[in-house]
Amino acid sequence: MTKITIAIDGFSSTGKSTIAKQLANALGYVYVDSGAMYRAVTLHAMNKGFISDDHFDVEGLINDLPNLTIFFKFNNKLGIGEVFLNDVNVEGQIRNLEVSRKVSQVAAISEVRVMLVKQQQRMGQFKGVVMDGRDIGTVVFPDAELKLFMTSSAETRAQRRYDELIASGDDVEFKDILENVVSRDHIDSTREDSPLVKAEDAIEIDNSHLTKTEQFDQVLEMAYKIINHIE
Ligand code: C5P
Repeated sequence: MTKITIAIDGFSSTGKSTIAKQLANALGYVYVDSGAMYRAVTLHAMNKGFISDDHFDVEGLINDLPNLTIFFKFNNKLGIGEVFLNDVNVEGQIRNLEVSRKVSQVAAISEVRVMLVKQQQRMGQFKGVVMDGRDIGTVVFPDAELKLFMTSSAETRAQRRYDELIASGDDVEFKDILENVVSRDHIDSTREDSPLVKAEDAIEIDNSHLTKTEQFDQVLEMAYKIINHIE
């Protein structure tokens, strides 16, 4: 079967990764969570003291980028790709609120984006990939055959992220999560380099009122239509 590239962009916590994983599973494609890569760079910047709550040594981080390697390794037991930072599995450390609070500042740095976009393009060079993020349909894979742009209300999204963090044992407050979701959306949409915008040819999906199954059925049908049309 012909393989295509599927780009999924949208605001924070819109369920991009859920739909991306479902699609990758159904089609036998590779799923790449590009946000995990920005989060891993952010964790590195925090560990090395380049960024804290009240300071950000942008030059220091940029100069240190050549010492940084990020890759995914598939965990067969969990059925997901886990992100490694300089050979250490950091999957369990990158989704907390501390990293979430700083990641959009780090992701606004062009040097960081150039490095990660190159790597993302390599991962998708043979197609058969579903990648989610903020600039996948606009910058990473502008020629992707299927582009989705996910939205839903900030409250719905914050509630989802809150439920996930509570389920994983984090002690967080809903208002802090809502504030983080709104603030990341703002920084991501207004940055100069590769801002979060809907690609002209992307299909917008507002999933505030869709179940996961309804949404998946719709999107899988779209993918098959394109694949069958190409063959
Ligand atoms: O997808 P996730 O919410 O984990 O992404 C974390 C952050 O990484 C986003 O808020 C954004 O600042 C950045 N990001 C990005 N470009 C991507 C993926 C994520 O700028 N393609």
